[in-house]
Amino acid sequence: DVAVALEDVRKTYQLGEPVHALDGVSLEIPRGSYTAIMGPSGSGKSTLMNLVGCLDTPTAGAVVVDGRDVRDLSGRERTRLRGSEVGFVFQTFNLMPRLNALENVALPQLFQGISRGDRRDRARELLERVGLGDRIDHLPNELSGGQRQRVALARALVNDPAIVLADEPSGNLDTETESQVLDLFAAFHGGGTTMIVVTHERHVAERAERIVHLLDGEIERIEELDGVEER
Ligand code: ADP
Ligand code: ADP
Repeated sequence: DVAVALEDVRKTYQLGEPVHALDGVSLEIPRGSYTAIMGPSGSGKSTLMNLVGCLDTPTAGAVVVDGRDVRDLSGRERTRLRGSEVGFVFQTFNLMPRLNALENVALPQLFQGISRGDRRDRARELLERVGLGDRIDHLPNELSGGQRQRVALARALVNDPAIVLADEPSGNLDTETESQVLDLFAAFHGGGTTMIVVTHERHVAERAERIVHLLDGEIERIEELDGVEER
């Protein structure tokens, strides 16, 4: 059962000299799996995430999310897929500055037909799970960078998406907060969520089941982190 499939995907940016950000990438990500994407700066990691998250379309090849070729979806269907099927955790967290932590986390549920009380309960539960149960009334500018990142994480997870895409999720977190975030990822993975995490950090990648190494827009190798096989 496949959550995401890339079939000979190419992405070329045309700014003067063409840049082949992805150059023939084929990859199947099983449903419920936990995948890390590693590679040097410029290797195509963000491009890959944007394609999987339906934020962008390939120049050639197919991106299939949840059995649907992204090319065949209307703009509205892509937006719906992003809102309910896919949860994003980005470096730039885009919190609404005038909404407090609870309201920010509750926001993605607005169009899900959930009552206000249930939305707030769910948002509070997620904030507690990221260790911010005592900060629910704070505005983003009253929170530290790491706390804001955790609010963004709670928001990404609030609709219980089938697929979570995280780009450097622990980039600027202290060690303790990072391990809380990674434990949360593991808990979601344990609950059946497909996790895809881009990271520069080996120890973050090692929480996954396998590491896809990108180099110059191609898959250099796939490293299985099955504890049994490693030995
Ligand atoms: P790449 O393109 O390889 O993903 P980036 O240019 O996004 O690399 O980031 C390079 C480094 O700078 C990374 O270690 C990343 O964590 C850090 N970084 C990038 N953007 C931010 C940001 N908005 N806040 C904090 N750190 C960031
Ligand atoms: P990574 O996330 O691994 O750092 P990216 O996917 O961001 O890699 O970039 C891959 C290549 O594509 C790089 O050479 C980058 O400069 C180029 N690139 C990425 N986005 C754009 C864009 N919007 N326009 C032009 N070139 C881009």
